Amino acid sequence: MTSAGQFPPTLDAARARIAAVHPGDYARSRNAIEGAVTKLSPYLTHGFVNLPEVLAGVAARHRLDVRHKFVFELGWREYFRHVWQHRGDGILQSLHEGPLPDAAYSPELPPDIRQARTGVPVIDQAVRTLYATGYLHNHARMWLASYVVHLRKVHWRAGADWMVAHLLDGDLASDHLSWQWVAGTGSHKPYLFNAENVSRYAPKAWHSAGSVVDASYAALDALARRAWALPPESNGDGVEEPALASAPPGPVAAVAKAADLAGRDVWLVHPWALGEPPTDLPAGCLRMGWWPTGHHAAWPWSAARWTFVGVRMAAVASVCWQGTGHDLAQVLRHARTVQTLADPHVGPWLPTQVLQRAPMHLFAEVDRPCASFSSWWNCSTRGVKRLADLPGLRALSAFGPAGPLFEQANPAISDPCRHKPSI
Ligand SMILES: Cc1cc2nc3c(=O)[nH]c(=O)nc-3n(C[C@H](O)[C@H](O)[C@H](O)COP(=O)(O)OP(=O)(O)OC[C@H]3O[C@@H](n4cnc5c(N)ncnc54)[C@H](O)[C@@H]3O)c2cc1C
Repeated sequence: MTSAGQFPPTLDAARARIAAVHPGDYARSRNAIEGAVTKLSPYLTHGFVNLPEVLAGVAARHRLDVRHKFVFELGWREYFRHVWQHRGDGILQSLHEGPLPDAAYSPELPPDIRQARTGVPVIDQAVRTLYATGYLHNHARMWLASYVVHLRKVHWRAGADWMVAHLLDGDLASDHLSWQWVAGTGSHKPYLFNAENVSRYAPKAWHSAGSVVDASYAALDALARRAWALPPESNGDGVEEPALASAPPGPVAAVAKAADLAGRDVWLVHPWALGEPPTDLPAGCLRMGWWPTGHHAAWPWSAARWTFVGVRMAAVASVCWQGTGHDLAQVLRHARTVQTLADPHVGPWLPTQVLQRAPMHLFAEVDRPCASFSSWWNCSTRGVKRLADLPGLRALSAFGPAGPLFEQANPAISDPCRHKPSI
């Protein structure tokens, strides 16, 4: 199914996906390519819904415990944001050395991988699926990244930049830190997989017996630590890589002259803030969509991603506009108030006059940087006995989606590790 068929860019579609989550099936089958995963990530990345809303929606229909696999997986998303908050742009470089020095890996992703003609079925199927749908199952992402880095000796950054551009859910923290986890530059060891693992979790067309991944883990580990790349196995028919663009297709309606906004209250709708605007905005507040040129120049998107985001932005905002942060500051200079939802993808380009509302976190924020998911998880869930104690759920039930920072809602459990020494 195409990306448009699978991921309609509407709030109803996001809510339908939440309603369809079966945590029991999820826990049993989430590792399988055709398992009961939620496919919520495009809606989460672009802020149609947030983690507290997802968990509240699921918990309203099913009994869940804080340590349920589903809650744990939501935690990974927030953990990667935690690392981004502490490391900033440092997440775009190796956090530490992996099995080989950075220089042992090529900075370019070879054409046979880009065109899905490596001859390794699991890899070619994954690339085709990525291009056709803008989505990949987590296991397929791990297989693809592992093959690219450890067998073809391509630097994880080249793979991460390529994948993040084609995903509808492309998120710099989840993507680049996951690639680092696979590469072994953000974890203790390289992630490896073999043909048997693929046969267990993927449909038949993906099975890769007889290919380079049909090997023991010891042999694959030796390959990962050896500094030469395996050549492609065959050059069969490939697919064309979808074009990437740094601007929305078609003209963006130009709103905004400073005079039009003079004295107005403005809610700025950017690509990571596509949920319903807060309910406590001033009456008559103008919803203005903004494509931040600075971000898009650095991180181009597929046409499918532009459409997914653009359709929703047009539904939320009454006017849309593209420009640099400097241009935006000029346009907004006579506005009465300007607010938006904070997000690190857009933060560097936001003019100072924009008041950034903190996004709702599901888990307690942890002040000290945590080097592993488990240390972050232990800190952020310490003292949490019931699901309803999670700060995001408390804030949601107390204040609704327009609510304030959860820290104000429950300072007692918001940051159990605040006073611990840094690692
Ligand atoms: C190499 C690689 C690149 C990735 N790139 C991205 C990316 O750009 N954007 C992105 O959102 N996720 C990324 N992930 C994480 C994960 O693969 C996706 O979040 C997940 O597959 C999305 O599908 P889903 O919504 O059906 O997930 P489900 O399994 O249904 O999980 C529900 C939600 O939990 C969160 N979640 C689950 N697993 C993870 C995980 N391992 N890491 C972080 N969050 C998780 C996601 O928000 C997801 O939507 C990447 C993983 C790998 C291995």
